Amino acid sequence: MDKIKMITPLVEMDGDEMTRILWKMIKDELLLPFIDLKTEYYDLGLEYRNETNDQVTVDSANATLKYGVAVKCATITPNAARMSEYDLKEMWKSPNGTIRAILDGTVFRTPIVVKGIEPCVKNWEKPITLARHAYGDVYKNAEIKIPGAGKAELLFTAEDGTEVRELIHNFKGAGIIQGMHNTEDSISSFAKACFNYAIDTKQDLWFATKDTISKKYDHTFKDIFQDIYDADYKEKFEELGIEYFYTLIDDAVARVMKAKGGFIWACKNYDGDVMSDMVSSAFGSLAMMTSVLVSPTGVYEYEAAHGTVQRHYYKHLKGEETSTNSVATIFAWTGALRKRGELDNIPELMDFADKLEAATLGTIEAGKMTKDLALITSLNDVKVLNSEDFIKEIRKTLETSIS
Ligand code: NAP
Ligand code: MG
Repeated sequence: MDKIKMITPLVEMDGDEMTRILWKMIKDELLLPFIDLKTEYYDLGLEYRNETNDQVTVDSANATLKYGVAVKCATITPNAARMSEYDLKEMWKSPNGTIRAILDGTVFRTPIVVKGIEPCVKNWEKPITLARHAYGDVYKNAEIKIPGAGKAELLFTAEDGTEVRELIHNFKGAGIIQGMHNTEDSISSFAKACFNYAIDTKQDLWFATKDTISKKYDHTFKDIFQDIYDADYKEKFEELGIEYFYTLIDDAVARVMKAKGGFIWACKNYDGDVMSDMVSSAFGSLAMMTSVLVSPTGVYEYEAAHGTVQRHYYKHLKGEETSTNSVATIFAWTGALRKRGELDNIPELMDFADKLEAATLGTIEAGKMTKDLALITSLNDVKVLNSEDFIKEIRKTLETSIS
């Protein structure tokens, strides 16, 4: 069989620890035998980030802007323990944060749904994708502990010196206050990324805030979304038969619990933080969650939602057997390859991505899986495989479906 040819390279961002081990296995077993893989490789492993003063992370993000599609392995975000473990020059920032800032992107997280791993909410038949606005609000707040009686005000001073004041509260005793902000630019980017992703995946888009209570702050989010939708996206949505709707966050929560899934739920920063943890744990497993960063201009970076699985890596280093789930990392690759195929008009590449995903799910549905899934599956007669054998089983299933 001829290998599938690519046109534009994928930006490949290698990473750390156990996921770096899986990365190579996935390429060797599931990709290189079938595709004439074209990538521009960036080593985001912590050692090389340290060696290049983290320039490699910036370069990889710029390459993503240039080519349009990237696939990323999980990476270590350094903390004090990592400083000594890797003898770091500095406590380098989170690569995901750096890349997100350069791409001005929104992160969409989607669970991988497979027979045998049932969501806690029994009517969820299709995945629910959560889009979290990743800038501002309570995450960039200013807070004061008020010691005693006094007047608290919001004050805005324009560049020309004009002041706008708003009374927060006349304190009669001790208390607390908090100030937060967002920008029209950031909210607009978030809205565009959501509309683009809905069109891209042909799914309805839900957006909810508490605009009945927050009549200026949350209402601005609602208005910006609506204005951008009406001006630039309404026609395309109608053409595709998908829907955008805004509702109150309380109503959204109630509807989500009763829904079948198969839509995108856009949330403000804090709501997204909380709701993504709820939705992902209700779907079953962190190891079955994919994540894609989408820029407002339509640039894509695919990855698994989980980290580098450090505990398994230390076992691996001691020569012990591991049973680490590679599904989300495989789906990061298939997501990126499918998008590359779509942009470069290579139907074989898109078809390969579909087949690799089907082979991965088929392997699990046939009862062959890693330990994390074996612990929660509703299937009987399960065979627990180690990290490498699971990938080899997927290869067998894939070869059968291709030949
Ligand atoms: P983690 O790597 O997500 O792993 C936490 C635990 O979840 C694991 O110990 C394991 O549980 C389970 N798990 C996660 N993924 C799994 C998989 N694929 N297969 C089987 N089990 C899996 O989080 P962490 O240990 O807190 O973080 C490790 C490193 O990852 C940190 O340095 C952090 O900075 C980094 N991180 C990176 C990203 C990213 O690049 N996007 C995201 C999060 C964290 P058991 O040990 O019980 O088996
Ligand atoms: Mg959280």
